[in-house]
Amino acid sequence: MERVITLVDKLAKSHVLSREEFSFLLDNIGEEDTYLYGKAREAALANYGNKIYVRGLMEFSNYCKNDCYYCGIRRSNQKASRYRLSPEQIMECCSIGYGLGFRTFVLQGGEDPWFTDEKIAYLVERMKKQYPDCAVTLSVGEKGYDTYKRWFDAGADRYLLRHETANPCHYASLHPPQMSSEYRKECLHNLKAIGYQTGCGIMAGSPYQTTAHIAEDLEFMHGLQPEMVGIGPFIPHHDTQFAKEPAGSVEMTLFLLAVIRILLPKVLLPATTALGTMDPLGREKGLQAGANVVMPNLSPVKNRKQYELYDNKICTGEEAAECRGCMGRRVASVGYELVTERGDAV
Ligand code: SAH
Repeated sequence: MERVITLVDKLAKSHVLSREEFSFLLDNIGEEDTYLYGKAREAALANYGNKIYVRGLMEFSNYCKNDCYYCGIRRSNQKASRYRLSPEQIMECCSIGYGLGFRTFVLQGGEDPWFTDEKIAYLVERMKKQYPDCAVTLSVGEKGYDTYKRWFDAGADRYLLRHETANPCHYASLHPPQMSSEYRKECLHNLKAIGYQTGCGIMAGSPYQTTAHIAEDLEFMHGLQPEMVGIGPFIPHHDTQFAKEPAGSVEMTLFLLAVIRILLPKVLLPATTALGTMDPLGREKGLQAGANVVMPNLSPVKNRKQYELYDNKICTGEEAAECRGCMGRRVASVGYELVTERGDAV
């Protein structure tokens, strides 16, 4: 369809579209997708060549004081079997990861009050001291400006905080009343202002999501200019109120990856585990749609299943070394090269 091609060209040239134009693209998914994916790959290649960056993900606690309706580790899920890694266990994961070539460590967890601001700051300091050539990424939720600043001063380089949805009403349908999209966005603006390489993002196909909402998300991303964007399909978790909701589609996820690659050509864009969960070749397809990051799991195998944000999560059985090898092969199978450099935003 001609208008789709015109809009993809316009996006590639001016790196922005109106909400209405984004909506049109979203309402015509599947039209001219060879063209769209070609443009997305072109943008990735121009900025990053055929390199795919690797991040060692450490899911260090599944305790959470929040109650996001979609999430398997939400506070009110009493069936979740809770765990937290000790700082020593986390340092041990880093050591294994470092040996495997990882030069970025991502600390992700629920909002666990046991990990006070001090403890996280101390952990970041230890990691940076022991591995000065590595980047540390935090993904531990919403905090005030001063806490983010403190962690940045301790040495944290990057922060992942998906905004989940830019639309306040949609946000309210996914979160309890204590949480707000305004505050989530404020956190992201604070992170940017402090100097973090900052990541926002959404779940594709979350409950009640419309194409108009996604158009708003893309507009928000244009305004924020994040260095990273996390996109994965929503996948229901059996112990949440969204247990019976349909999962987001692979097609929509790939489409969003491609559009975001063209919207923000230099963005660091992971092919997520959730995408690999929905389709055995999901991550490879993600790379072919413009993603340039993979995040294999470095957490101890015995805890992997417990960090159960959604059902049927993959890669919960293998040791870090196996994950690293598997990821290298997957990346190579679609013609890219897994590289171990820090992979900062360019
Ligand atoms: N506490 C941190 C980390 C949250 S988990 C924070 O608030 O940022 C990381 C991401 O997993 C979330 O931002 C959400 O987008 C995603 N996620 C949670 N539940 C999910 C589900 N059921 N399906 C797919 N993705 C999910």
